[in-house]
Amino acid sequence: MGRRKRKKIVYRRVRSLPKIFTCPKCGHKTVKAKVTSKEEDVEVICGHCGVSQKVSKNDLTEPVDAFGDFIDIYYKDQEYARLTSREEKLWEKKQFTELTLVYSFLADNANVNSTKALEEYQKNKDPKDLEQAEMWKATAAKYVENGKRLQEQLDSGLIEDATLENIYEENEDNPYDEGESKVSEKPKRRAKIEEILGDTGFLEF
Ligand SMILES: [Zn+2]
Repeated sequence: MGRRKRKKIVYRRVRSLPKIFTCPKCGHKTVKAKVTSKEEDVEVICGHCGVSQKVSKNDLTEPVDAFGDFIDIYYKDQEYARLTSREEKLWEKKQFTELTLVYSFLADNANVNSTKALEEYQKNKDPKDLEQAEMWKATAAKYVENGKRLQEQLDSGLIEDATLENIYEENEDNPYDEGESKVSEKPKRRAKIEEILGDTGFLEF
């Protein structure tokens, strides 16, 4: 008298998680994240404007998680680009005190990038990630140094902020103005910063 085999019931998780997302760059609902078990990373890509980003994943990663990571990276990169453009403007307008702040934000941003790259390296052991981590670390150190030197010059009275009615007469700091030009590649501005601060005569009057 054998027991009747119970029919195996497979409960399927009802997936109501979104699969297509709105692009932060072009605004179309055309962003997809293809999560496969084979790949170590997930490529998040917009089918309309082509903006794309590889993000890391784990066993629980759903497209919505990958999209969230993509959004974080997208806005952080955008913030970085915004800060570098602001840095340039502040030099032009001789707003040194605010520049020291911008340098500290830029250093923070670069440090986050360094940490992320290092995490990637620890996961995949890809030497490129280690290279990136070191590059960002050096970039962060450079910004810290820039800010420090500037502060010293300010403290000693060698330089002072120009008086300006309104240093932002243009729209350069409107975070909602997502002009194409602001989404620039990584540390494009480094050469320029070094140009300015590396020139020993620059801050001497
Ligand atoms: Zn797009």
